[in-house]
Amino acid sequence: MGSVQTDQQPLLPVANSTTPFWRTELHELDSHRSTDVLPAECDILIIGGGYAGIGAAYHLLAGDEPIAGKTVVLLEAREACSGATGRNGGHLRPSVYPRLPYYIKEYGKDAAEHLADFEFDHVQAIAELVKKEGIDCDFELTRSYDIYTDLDQAQAAKKKYLRYKEAGIAKSTMDDLEWTDQDRAEEVYQIGISGVKGCVGCFTFTAASVWPYKLMMSLLKIAVSKGLNLQTHTPVTAVSPTPTASGTWTAYTPRGAISAKQVIFATNGYTSTLLPEYEGKIVPCRGICSRIVCPAETRPPQLDKTYCIRFNNGSHDYLIPRADGSIVVGGARSTFFQDYKNWYNTVDDASLITPSANYFDTYMQDNFVGWDDSGAKLDQIWTGIMGYNSDSLPSVGEVPGREGCFIAAGFEGHGMPLIWLTMQGIVGMLGGKKYEEVRLPSMFKTTKERLESKRDDLRGTN
Ligand SMILES: Cc1cc2nc3c(=O)[nH]c(=O)nc-3n(C[C@H](O)[C@H](O)[C@H](O)COP(=O)(O)OP(=O)(O)OC[C@H]3O[C@@H](n4cnc5c(N)ncnc54)[C@H](O)[C@@H]3O)c2cc1C
Repeated sequence: MGSVQTDQQPLLPVANSTTPFWRTELHELDSHRSTDVLPAECDILIIGGGYAGIGAAYHLLAGDEPIAGKTVVLLEAREACSGATGRNGGHLRPSVYPRLPYYIKEYGKDAAEHLADFEFDHVQAIAELVKKEGIDCDFELTRSYDIYTDLDQAQAAKKKYLRYKEAGIAKSTMDDLEWTDQDRAEEVYQIGISGVKGCVGCFTFTAASVWPYKLMMSLLKIAVSKGLNLQTHTPVTAVSPTPTASGTWTAYTPRGAISAKQVIFATNGYTSTLLPEYEGKIVPCRGICSRIVCPAETRPPQLDKTYCIRFNNGSHDYLIPRADGSIVVGGARSTFFQDYKNWYNTVDDASLITPSANYFDTYMQDNFVGWDDSGAKLDQIWTGIMGYNSDSLPSVGEVPGREGCFIAAGFEGHGMPLIWLTMQGIVGMLGGKKYEEVRLPSMFKTTKERLESKRDDLRGTN
């Protein structure tokens, strides 16, 4: 890989970000401020208005066990849901299974199974939430293909799956997986098999697709209706102990300061600006995503599942078909990942990743059987900033050495099947429970040891 760029800019969200498809229909709360003036204090302060921050607000004010009589303020640097959540692939896809052996080896069987169940349960939890709140967000409960294009990888994946299934490990996940062998795998999707060129075997499993911005903004609206004070366009530049009141924290913004007894850092890749101990632990990294459209008269039949296509160069793409006939597809890592300056330690979602700018132009023709004469073409392309981790795991829980400060960040390119229940757990902790008393994956717990570790998966040191 190329040399590592060490960006010395403060890690705050930038202006003029690229426009993702999801943010083409803006919600009334997109740039909302509940009060003209920033309150001077509150009980619970949430920093960050993405999935994690909005999830926390909803669980606090409208969840199964809402807190009573506490004031909650959410500060967002830009528009609501303008970070990774508003720019992702809309793919809610639990996929612990390829990494199960690693998790079992590193963290033990119980912890690995707990994580598998935790991800698996997200699909149902979000399906129920959407139904309960009557949210219009194109939520589609479906199955997802995991496509292999390398025969050795495919055989190894199948072997592992059969071994784990037989041993009854991570039962819900394994029982839900179905394997299709090479001889049937490239048949066209019309008869239910993948339709991906070069497919040599595939799994399917339960997943969902969604318009993430619409889902989040509906939840935000509910939280605001229950008393959340939302303050968009309010970047927090520092958080420190309140000089005049012990046991509380003050967040500083260009619009004034606000103090709170409890603070939730839902700041994704930008976290180390406010919590410097996470520098190098949660690193802002850029990804790219696109929307492809196809004229109705030449459009092949609608894809009936979502996809992850694993290429033999180690890279993979993810894709969801939408009811409007368009396709949202992201990834393209093979085009840019070798050179760190394209993606590592950058908060610039105002520009594309240059080597990937044309990657999606003929994506459907290049990768799908029956699409050669479809006329499918790129409609929109955008970038977004993720929080990648030096040990490949999110950081969740009370920040070591900062009583009353909680973090939920670093969900990499996989937040959709992790964040909802994580924030429920965090809210339980705000109510006084210990990490181990709420439902959170043990390996996500933020600890002094993890912060002090020299491990760096992103730059290849263990
Ligand atoms: C291109 C792309 C495609 C992806 N595709 C998928 C997918 O298909 N499926 C999936 O599961 N995951 C996907 N992801 C990852 C997923 O989007 C993230 O894991 C998830 O959205 C993270 O949510 P979050 O709330 O932690 O972060 P964000 O949504 O980024 O929210 C953090 C918020 O904090 C705000 N903020 C940061 N610092 C400050 C500050 N100092 N003051 C005030 N506000 C601040 C930011 O402006 C931002 O709005 C993708 C990500 C990208 C970028």
